[in-house]
Amino acid sequence: MVEYSIIIPVYNEADNLSLLYYEIKELTGRIAVPCEIIWVDDGSTDSSLDIIKGLAKKDEHCRYLGFEKNCGQSAALYAGFQAAKGRYVITMDSDLQNNPRDILNMIPYLAEYDMVTGWRKDRHDTGWRKFSSKFANGVRNRLSRETIKDTGCSLKIMKTSLLKNIKIYKGLHRFLPTLMKMEGATVIEVPVSHRPRTMGVSKYGTWDRAFSGLRDLLAVRWMQDRQIHYQIKEMSDEH
Ligand code: UDP
Ligand code: MG
Repeated sequence: MVEYSIIIPVYNEADNLSLLYYEIKELTGRIAVPCEIIWVDDGSTDSSLDIIKGLAKKDEHCRYLGFEKNCGQSAALYAGFQAAKGRYVITMDSDLQNNPRDILNMIPYLAEYDMVTGWRKDRHDTGWRKFSSKFANGVRNRLSRETIKDTGCSLKIMKTSLLKNIKIYKGLHRFLPTLMKMEGATVIEVPVSHRPRTMGVSKYGTWDRAFSGLRDLLAVRWMQDRQIHYQIKEMSDEH
């Protein structure tokens, strides 16, 4: 029985993968319960997929999926969620901006919560990036009546049984705390560390993120407003 499925979306991150693998193995060695690592190559055009295949060959705890072409981070995560065998799913980026060690501080919260999501309190991105993210989180919280400080942080742990009920559409990986709450999950946000990207490049620009983010937010708001709630008062006997 796998306890944690660590799902890593990868798009042209060849220079980061070996070090990330090393850091993750250090983590799994410390938590000492059965873990699997699911690498999802999102149509990389560099040698990422070859590196991942090499890891899967030498380490039985590594699995991988390789997309035919680039389909986006939401698609990569969703495919990983569907493949997950663990009781919990852990997500993190493959660019070394997240530190897998933070998972050790997050796990104890699972005794009380179904989802633990990271908050990059001391964020190492450009000033403009930090400002636009803060602004986006503000708008997001206002419209979706949320209080999440950093929904874009990829470092998350989620109960798989609830996560698998969610159908993810493009961009919706940024709304996982809200979508999990809609599935009845209890959610806590905890501070995590953040590192600058030193190798490879960011896959997003500010404006594409802002515009698609607004469209996605309206969809999530609609889902919240139109969610079905019912309690069964009576029913026939089951035969
Ligand atoms: N990513 C992906 N598919 C994409 C874009 C990004 O799998 O189309 C992965 C990427 O390799 C990284 C994570 O998603 O592991 C976050 O991307 P990035 O670091 O570019 O985002 P940022 O930190 O700049 O928000
Ligand atoms: Mg990044």
